[in-house]
Amino acid sequence: MKKRIFRFAALAVILVISPVMAYSEDDMQDMVVSEDFTEEYSEDIGEGQDDLADDEYTGLISDLSENTLFIAASDDDDDGDDGDEEETEETEETEKDPEAIESVSIDNVYFMLQSGTKPKYSAKVTHGNAAIRYEGWSDEGGNVNYSSSASYQDDDIKFTKFEKDQIYTYHLSIIAEDSDYFTETTRFWINGSAYLGTLNTAKTICTFDNIFSGRAECLHEYKTYEVEATCTTPGREYKRCTYCGDEITIKTTPETGHNYELDEDKSVEATCTRAGKEVYVCGNDNCGNIYEKLIPALGHHLVYDVDDPATDTTEGTYTVKCNRDDGACGYQEKSWTIFPYKKIKLLKEKYPYTGSAIIPSFRVVDSIGKTVDPKFYTVVCFHNKNIGTATLHLTFSGRYSGKMKKTFQIVKGRQTITVKSASITVPKADVKKKTIRVSLGAKAKTKLTYKSKSKKIKVNKKGVVTVKKGTKKGTYTITITAKESKNWKKATKKIKIKVK
Ligand SMILES: [Zn+2]
Ligand SMILES: [Zn+2]
Ligand SMILES: [Zn+2]
Repeated sequence: MKKRIFRFAALAVILVISPVMAYSEDDMQDMVVSEDFTEEYSEDIGEGQDDLADDEYTGLISDLSENTLFIAASDDDDDGDDGDEEETEETEETEKDPEAIESVSIDNVYFMLQSGTKPKYSAKVTHGNAAIRYEGWSDEGGNVNYSSSASYQDDDIKFTKFEKDQIYTYHLSIIAEDSDYFTETTRFWINGSAYLGTLNTAKTICTFDNIFSGRAECLHEYKTYEVEATCTTPGREYKRCTYCGDEITIKTTPETGHNYELDEDKSVEATCTRAGKEVYVCGNDNCGNIYEKLIPALGHHLVYDVDDPATDTTEGTYTVKCNRDDGACGYQEKSWTIFPYKKIKLLKEKYPYTGSAIIPSFRVVDSIGKTVDPKFYTVVCFHNKNIGTATLHLTFSGRYSGKMKKTFQIVKGRQTITVKSASITVPKADVKKKTIRVSLGAKAKTKLTYKSKSKKIKVNKKGVVTVKKGTKKGTYTITITAKESKNWKKATKKIKIKVK
């Protein structure tokens, strides 16, 4: 009862001091005329508090000049934020008169216009005896979104998300509490900045209709993602905006390529006559790519398998077989005859002595006159260096067996005499003055002797020629002889000495 009286008194004061104030349309929406309203109240304002004690209303104002009625929120309409019980309890104890609010601070207003998101309403009154009535946004096309359903008009078109590039305007409305009221000197702080609001006539509501306006856009909030490279696709580290999906590549890594490994179970081995395949499987995780390499048929690996070797008198046979995998293939051609080897045919019967061992040129022919492949025999020679009879010994193997021999002759070798020059010229002018000596420098396999026909020109045992002083012009001959020996034939060479 006491409380009601108090409130009514406060409203009366407001009415008395209230000038005509402008108010927004939004305010109009909130103005409610109660069914229980009667003129009686307005007439009795100021004096009849006691008479009104039983009335249901906590406050009632009539601004007759504006033809508008204001009714402050009743206890029944309170949504609980103010704490009904508390208020009831406390006001009984600490009843006070309505007071002018000196200042109100509203913080935590969220002005971000992140496209694609719903408006966030988080404003809080942090100072001053007032509460948030509503927050809201409107776009240029008249679409609106408000925190409180009471703020919408019937024909409002609502939007749910900020659209990119649309321009939005923020609205805020606060209401004084506990019958306190705002005045022209009340200071309003929003997020720390001072703003002027529009008061309603009763000065219980202050509305800020154009304190912030901006364009909705994506403020990009990126999260980092990583896609690992696979065998065939590159890997990528990138960030993507959680709102608009904009992507920025941070790093790429090349594809790894397949890592093929031979799968023996899936592979098929090629044989002599059938193709096979090698199957390679990529061993990288989550791939399993398969690569096949065809292996052509190997063909038979033919060998000559000797059943019976031939000798110098008997025929033999051999068979052509495939020996792949130790003959597992089983392929075999018919058997062939090996004809007996018959004789050794020497290229020459006689070979001159050389001072070194002599292996004669020869071939072995078989009974049908064909040459036997030398791979089927080995050769050893005896007495094949010095003059005399040498012997060739053959030992057969492979398609043949047995031994065979053949003799050949080593005869005396031909030797040659070498000299520095076969023709030596001595100037006549020199011979006129003195005797001239020249060395022939002859060499051979055996001992050398020298002869000169002229008495004017002599040659000694060492092959030094002496041309006597005063020898006449002309050509003189010296004969060099290499002596015959056990191994070498005799050899001669003529040297010309020219005096001119
Ligand atoms: Zn974005
Ligand atoms: Zn792979
Ligand atoms: Zn084979």
